[in-house]
This record gives sequence, structure tokens and C-alpha cells, in this order.
Amino acid sequence: MKDMATLSDPDLLRQAALIGGQWVAADNGATVDVTNPATGAVIGSVPDISAAQTRAAIDTADAAFQMWRKRPHAERAALLERWHDLMLAHSDDLALILTMEQGKPLAEAKGEIAYGASFVKWFAAEALRLDGSVIPAPTGDRRILTLKEPVGVSAIITPWNFPNAMITRKVGPALAAGCTVVIKPSDFTPFSALALGVLAERAGIPSGVINIVTGMPAEIGAELTANPTVRKVSFTGSTRVGSLLMAQSAPSVKRLSLELGGNAPFIVFDDADLDRTVEGAIASKFRNGGQTCVCSNRILVQAGVHDAFAEKLSARVRAMKVGPGTDAGVDIGPMINRAAIDKIERHIADAVAKGATIAAQAPVPAGQYAAPTVLTGATTDMELAAEETFGPVAPLFRFDTEEQAIAIANATPFGLAAYFYTEDIRRAWRVGEALEFGMVGLNTGAISTTVSPFGGVKQSGLGREGARQGIDEYLEVKAFHMGL
Ligand code: NAD
Repeated sequence: MKDMATLSDPDLLRQAALIGGQWVAADNGATVDVTNPATGAVIGSVPDISAAQTRAAIDTADAAFQMWRKRPHAERAALLERWHDLMLAHSDDLALILTMEQGKPLAEAKGEIAYGASFVKWFAAEALRLDGSVIPAPTGDRRILTLKEPVGVSAIITPWNFPNAMITRKVGPALAAGCTVVIKPSDFTPFSALALGVLAERAGIPSGVINIVTGMPAEIGAELTANPTVRKVSFTGSTRVGSLLMAQSAPSVKRLSLELGGNAPFIVFDDADLDRTVEGAIASKFRNGGQTCVCSNRILVQAGVHDAFAEKLSARVRAMKVGPGTDAGVDIGPMINRAAIDKIERHIADAVAKGATIAAQAPVPAGQYAAPTVLTGATTDMELAAEETFGPVAPLFRFDTEEQAIAIANATPFGLAAYFYTEDIRRAWRVGEALEFGMVGLNTGAISTTVSPFGGVKQSGLGREGARQGIDEYLEVKAFHMGL
């Protein structure tokens, strides 16, 4: 069986924080255990870093910033390229570490490493293209230029569901722009972050440019948001914590990027190609066991195809294999923790109590697993309509008209991702424009890619990651006026 003992490069598994190029323990020796969600076994521990040590990490990032911002862009790009190459060269080990602490099937973990590395490569190239502009001045005795400058020390706070890619999607553009970072990974999945730190060192990224503080979030987060040296907070996680960090950052008026929760609708119109639609639903609903911010949470199906769609989706779901992510052929791994299972069970029980039917369920082994489930008869008064289930539950809502579908889809404070399937070109435009979401998939369930801007509207957040826009989150534009 694959476990941490089978890593080909055991040095990637670090049980220390990274501050100013030193791998350190907590000042008081405190640690936080990390468990394998497939077995409940402790796989290691990381330091529980204090506010004072977080301050030291910020100070070292600030000292490194003065050096890093002056490095020629081509040098920063070359170092990022090397970091990217090392990630790919070690992708088997990085994937195994990820599966051991997070649970997703190894094949998906490997996909995440490639996806994560792609942001580093992309932003290495963007570093080469950072340029300013010359603005025609209103009078002949002046010249006006814009200069792009790095924001400064950036706090990077990331969730457990994509322990690799959520870091690189932020750190790639931050470093390319000339910022230095203090990363606080999720306490559930710190080892993936620390392995990235090892590879950054090996790539030759200078000490202090990347710092990683591990441990319990409240104390570290309070320091990262209150400390005036931190100029930027980039956070991916729940809307609750994102809005708390926003409030904590207000007194020192920091730049913010927030990638928060979603409640994605997946709309199936009568004229959809049903087989493609089922494929899309499987991809967008069950990836990462449903623990993805862009996972469809509400599947709206028009009355004419409702039963046929429910049947096809149910057949696929019944055949899903649930088990440890390290087992061959597993579709769905364990859920991240007991609280996740409780929420999924609560949503199913509430839906059934309010009239939904369990149309299909896959078998699950004993342990921290949730059964992939199809629910029919879902209605908007159910808990699963209001909040993301973050698990492998596909609730089907029946609708009659396009207007109804749009109204149901938009009836949420969230606005991250939405999907719809239709073969009608006019409807495609109408619905695409009417959906109040930052990302819309038409006839596709796959919208996460390096080259496209990722982000939400409403309570799903602020800013965009990836794509050409992603680096702007780490840049200030200075207007430089010259009198002749
Ligand atoms: P979470 O908000 O609980 O935690 C995210 C991070 O914030 C973790 O590192 C956590 O330790 C930290 N944190 C928690 N309390 C904090 C505090 N007081 N101060 C500072 N940091 C604190 O979210 P999660 O459970 O790890 O992730 C799941 C959530 O993330 C879901 O809501 C999901 O939709 C969202 N998500 C969004 C995106 C996106 O791009 N929009 C991507 C992935 C996940």
C-alpha cells in the first residue's frame, strides 16, 4: 500500500515551518497533528506558530522584498520556471503527500499538481511582460507614465480542498510581480505547502521570499491582517472567514483578493444533449468528492427531460467506487473531516424530511466516507438550496420555464460558478448573460484552467486569479508625472 514511507524523496515531507530560510519549530514547542482522512491515523505534525513568530516571518518577508522587487523580471521568471519544473519532476511524491493528508484519489491529486504547477509557469511568462505605459499629457511641457510596482509583503491564506493549486495560483503571480509572501496553509493540509517550500529552496528562490507558517489559524490570521507591513491579503476559503479577514484588514486598509464559497447551479434545458450533460454533471458535481467551490450544488432540470436525466445520472452514481484515495480505481475518497460528513448527512436528512427522494446511492466502506447520492424532488426551501453541501450529493430541482430556472439560479447571495446545457444559440446568449456569476460554463462542466480568469461576484469574493488578470492583484499602478 502507498503511504508516506513509499515517498521516493522523503525530504519533501517536512514537519517544520519555513521562516527566513530556516526550518523551525514553534517557540513553545507546540504542534498540530495532521491525520489521513482515509484512516484517521496521524501522519505527522507541524509547529503551531505563534503571533510573535508570524511577526518574524513578516519582517523577514519585508527584508527580502527590498531585494526581490529589484531583481530583473527575467531572473524572477527563470526561478519560477525552475520551481515549476521541480514540481513536475516530483509530481508523484507531491500527489502522494496530497492524497495522504487530503484524501482525493491519487489520479486527481496528480492532476492538481500539474494544474498547480501550470500557474507558476504561466506567471513566470507574465513576469516578462510587465510593462507600463506613456499617457499623452494635456500640455506639451509634461510627460505622464504609469509604472507597475509590486504591492509588497502578501499574506496567502489557503484552504484544504486544493492544498497545492490554491497556493501556486497566488504565489506564482505574487512572486512574478515582485512581492514576497507569508503563506498560511490549512491546518488540515500543511504538508503539501511545506513540500512546495522545499522545492522553492531547491529552485534557488532566495530565503525570505517564501515563508510558511503552520498551525491554528486565529492567532496567525490576526497578526497577518493587523500587521501594517503586510500590504495584501489573498484568501481562498469560506465566506465566513473571508469576511472576518476583510474586517480585520480594514484598520490597516490592505489590498484584498477573496475567493470564497459558491452555490453553483447546473441547469439542464429540454433541448440539451443528455449524454454530454450527464458527463458534465459528473465532472462538475463529483470532482474532489464534491468538495470544490465550483462544484454544482443545485441541479435544475427542465420537466421534459427530468426523468431521463435522473435515470442516466443515477446509473452513473450507483457505479461510483468510494474508498481510500491511494486505492486503484477509486472515484471518491474520504471527506476531509467528521464535520463535513455531519453537514452532508444533515442536508440529506433535511431534504428527505421536506419531501425529496433518494434516487440513487453508491455503496461506501466504513470510515469517513459520504455516499455519492442523487436526490430528486429537491425544493428551494431545503438547506441544500441555500448553502454549499461540499459533498457528493446531487439534488435535482424540477423547473418548467427558462425564466424560472434563471430566477432559481440567481436566488443566492453567492456568485462563483454556474453551468447550463442547451443546444439553442439564442438561449445560450440569454441565459449566459442573465446568470449573476463570475464564471459560466455552457455545455461544459469544466471551467477551471490557468488561462481563464477565476473568481466570483456577490459574496463569492473579490478579484480574479489566473489568466492575464491574476498578476494585477499583486501590482500597484504608479502615475509618474514629469515636468520638462
Ligand atoms: P475555511 O474558510 O474554513 O479556511 C480557509 C483557510 O482560512 C484555512 O487556511 C484556515 O485555516 C484559515 N482560517 C480559518 N479561520 C481563520 C482566521 N480566523 N484567521 C485566519 N485564517 C483563518 O475554508 P475551508 O474549509 O478550508 O475551505 C472550504 C471553503 O473554501 C468552501 O467554502 C469553498 O467554497 C471555499 N473555496 C473557494 C475557492 C474559490 O476559489 N472561490 C476555492 C476553494 C475553496
